[in-house]
Amino acid sequence: MRPVAARLKPIGPSPTVRLGALVNEMKRRGEDVISFSVGEPDFPTPPHIVAAAKKALDAGMTKYVAPAGIPELREAIADKMKRENGVPCEPGGIIVAPTKHAIFLAIMGLVDPGEEVLFPDPGWVSYAPMAHLAGAKPVPVTADETTGFELTANALEAAITPRTKALVINSPSNPAGSVFSKETMRGICDVVADRDLFLISDEIYEKILYEGTHLSPASFGGMFDRTVTVHGFSKTYSMTGWRLGWLAAEASLAKQLVKVQEHTITCTPGFIQMAGVAALEGPASVVRGMVDEFRARRDLMAAEFASVPGFHVLRPAGAFYFFPRYDLDLRSDELAERLLTEAKVAVTPGAAFGEAGEHHLRFSYACSREDIRKGMARVRDFVRALRK
Ligand code: GLU
Repeated sequence: MRPVAARLKPIGPSPTVRLGALVNEMKRRGEDVISFSVGEPDFPTPPHIVAAAKKALDAGMTKYVAPAGIPELREAIADKMKRENGVPCEPGGIIVAPTKHAIFLAIMGLVDPGEEVLFPDPGWVSYAPMAHLAGAKPVPVTADETTGFELTANALEAAITPRTKALVINSPSNPAGSVFSKETMRGICDVVADRDLFLISDEIYEKILYEGTHLSPASFGGMFDRTVTVHGFSKTYSMTGWRLGWLAAEASLAKQLVKVQEHTITCTPGFIQMAGVAALEGPASVVRGMVDEFRARRDLMAAEFASVPGFHVLRPAGAFYFFPRYDLDLRSDELAERLLTEAKVAVTPGAAFGEAGEHHLRFSYACSREDIRKGMARVRDFVRALRK
């Protein structure tokens, strides 16, 4: 067979997506595996959101809709961005797309082949592959435990070259659950503006916040025109399978970026977008209830980690992940593999999130308290036995 495109060479499968699928397969086979792997809330999607999609289907909303999204949803999103995030975007600056696709649209639309895209290390597993797909060079910038997993202006400055075009940030962060302070965010924005870069701000975990305040860099003075803010429904409303999110940008920039959407997926399904309208316009108490439960799970998992020897934990302020460093003499992929096969607990190896993630594991606590208790007992017993 002739070789596939060279751009696929540096890209592996998504570790998070693949591990999630493997766990589902193991469960289907009847294996008693506890999953702390993929970041997927276990709650059902709230009924008023499901009802809105059903109603739209029954009304025959099964055709193409406008590529950037239906007016009702673009208006509801622009209103949310203004009201809650202080981002002065108009409905014309919103593109409705699955969140991952929105990040891809931004990278494809902003970065030329050979240019460099910066992102935090450790950072989410798909930023680097997306840069590769755009023919760009991904450049990880260390944002490790020594800075509380915050990306500093100094580290950013040191990574910039004449070829740097864009920076991706993610606060609250995956995999560490760090929430950037105002000073950190201001410092990052100053460098981005001084060095004339684009900023892609992945704010998917905005609402999964336990301490601190969520900050949207596009609300900072002078930043709106150079920032693409990406957001989505998956984590906030437990809607992972709906594949619904958005990007918010200055309207003339969105008009350029939407060309990528038109030539790839055309649009996001209209009846799914009606579910998004219901989510944004529905009661805030629904989200608060889920976040309160995540907070209780975080506290439970933190207490459980206290009795796992050699695991050093920073308490996450947002998202639903712990990213402990461990002092065992095993690579993170080896340790994760052994935890899965010997202890029947699925975690994501820290190295999947970049070099700075080696000797860490990511534990998602988007699962039930019962699973947290059961799974952490297995981890504790396994680690104790390993250390003997
Ligand atoms: N973002 C989630 C995670 O890190 C879902 C899987 C993915 O898209 O990477 O687990």
